Amino acid sequence: MSSFSITPTLLASLLLIACGSSNGQAPKAPAMSTNDMSQYDHSGNPHYSHTDTAKLNVPLSEWKKLLPADLYYIAFEKGTERAFTGKYWDFEGIGTYACAVCGNVLFQADSKFASSCGWPSFFQAARKDAIHYHEDRTYGMVRTETTCGRCGAHLGHIFDDGPKPTGQRYCINSVSLEFIGK
Ligand code: FE
Repeated sequence: MSSFSITPTLLASLLLIACGSSNGQAPKAPAMSTNDMSQYDHSGNPHYSHTDTAKLNVPLSEWKKLLPADLYYIAFEKGTERAFTGKYWDFEGIGTYACAVCGNVLFQADSKFASSCGWPSFFQAARKDAIHYHEDRTYGMVRTETTCGRCGAHLGHIFDDGPKPTGQRYCINSVSLEFIGK
């Protein structure tokens, strides 16, 4: 008989790591104006651009100086925000989502869908090279990690349980995103 047992705390952690299901119930946050939905002041970040798609090769030591601690942790230490805590998990504004680290345009808002998993979910990237994909075998699972195609920041994971037309679910940390309203 195995001595391994699943405690409620461990179970909650595993569910968090697995990025939740797309069928759970979640409380609805009040609607906000799109003007209130920017997260960061990028004026001190010389690499931030919505139009420059040239690849960046910035040392981690520089990113650490430029970025807020929570963004650095998720982007370059592969952290995961707690479900239902991010700014965009149930936000439905019209516009574009960019990488919060470098400004690279990642998703159009019309590819966002209500997955109720607690993280912003999209069925399609903004363009072919916007996002890069990597096998992730951590935590005893085989998943596909998503990173920014321009700066390499960790974004989240992609799963095959999304809606039509792609059937994919990009499960992305809110902290990694910056919303640009139309
Ligand atoms: Fe980026």
